[in-house]
Amino acid sequence: MRFNTKTIHAGQQPEETSGAVMPPIFQTSTYAQEAPNVNKGYDYARVGNPTRTALEKLIAGLEEADECACFASGCAAIDAVLKMFRPGDHIIASNDLYGGTYRLFTRVFEPMGVDFSFIDMTDMADVEEAQTNQTKLLWIETPTNPLLRIVDIAELATFARDHDILSVVDNTFASPCLQRPLTLGADAVLHSTTKYLGGHSDVIGGAVASSNKEVMEQLRFQVKTTGAVPGPMDCYLTLRGIKTLSVRMRESVKNAKRVAAFLDEHPQVDQTIYPGLQHHPQHDIAERQMDDFGAMVSFSLKGDSQEQAQAFMSRTSIFTLAESLGGVESLISHPASMTHASIPKEVRKKAGLKDSLIRLSIGIEDADDLVEDLEQAFG
Ligand SMILES: *Cc1c(COP(=O)(O)O)cnc(C)c1O
Repeated sequence: MRFNTKTIHAGQQPEETSGAVMPPIFQTSTYAQEAPNVNKGYDYARVGNPTRTALEKLIAGLEEADECACFASGCAAIDAVLKMFRPGDHIIASNDLYGGTYRLFTRVFEPMGVDFSFIDMTDMADVEEAQTNQTKLLWIETPTNPLLRIVDIAELATFARDHDILSVVDNTFASPCLQRPLTLGADAVLHSTTKYLGGHSDVIGGAVASSNKEVMEQLRFQVKTTGAVPGPMDCYLTLRGIKTLSVRMRESVKNAKRVAAFLDEHPQVDQTIYPGLQHHPQHDIAERQMDDFGAMVSFSLKGDSQEQAQAFMSRTSIFTLAESLGGVESLISHPASMTHASIPKEVRKKAGLKDSLIRLSIGIEDADDLVEDLEQAFG
């Protein structure tokens, strides 16, 4: 099956008892057993639910993984992955990371004794320098957030494998429609399904997919033991969203290219960051490892003040000022004061996150309306 066909059919069979074409919402907490421990594959809904299973099979199919485990949120999925590690273990992560991931690493796991190095993962020399004999995990995000740097997944996955280190890619920004990390050698791939997979800004969820049996066993144990599971209604909404992933992504990427080209020419813009632009520093890697360049665009303003950025954002009307991304509607946000406010200012500055940086999540509206909305916001 090819990708578009998979979004509709991977792991999806008509329901057995009724023939329902769409997976029913199995709103139940427990399942009748024929005799103690004799059941139809489900015993208690924290451990498993058929609606959740349908979603897990679908995401596993899209990511070319043997298995997938779904969670109540992207952060719950990251938390489950991190609980595979112990005090003294060392983890290398990007210094341009989803803000919530950074908070989870530094405020929950670092105090418990897990060590982290936050570095520029586009530079292999920095990765080699950060590695110690305690390094157990490479945490990869690409494109990064919000600077949209591109990390070479194949190169890092090879390095990780050679040094007996696990590599996990947070693939939320690209979605499996544009990038499939397991095919590039990564051990596991993670999603906030809240974003492109759900696609309609109406549900929170997370997922980890992998063909590594040991990893999946540990994650299933986490699901069962800590219970950060998605409800059946949420799984249903995500399943429904994924069916249009390819068509939504195609339109969003087309619009993003228009918006990036417009911003790149605008006299008030200092820097336009979009992996599809020729001058993007990792344009070649993006071309190689992604099917297309995504629908996130970031830009900074000449003068570079927070006030300027905030004034700009208050003037847009089609772009809604909000956190999050990956929905059908276009969103505008200010990382320094919103998603990345929990990262100290010095750390932000060091990572190259400017005060005036504005991040756009491009939706599927008419490109002309999006460009006109931005044009009038420059004043
Ligand atoms: C949103 C997001 C998360 C966290 O997911 P939630 O579903 O909000 O918990 C993790 N990583 C990335 C890249 C994200 O964009």
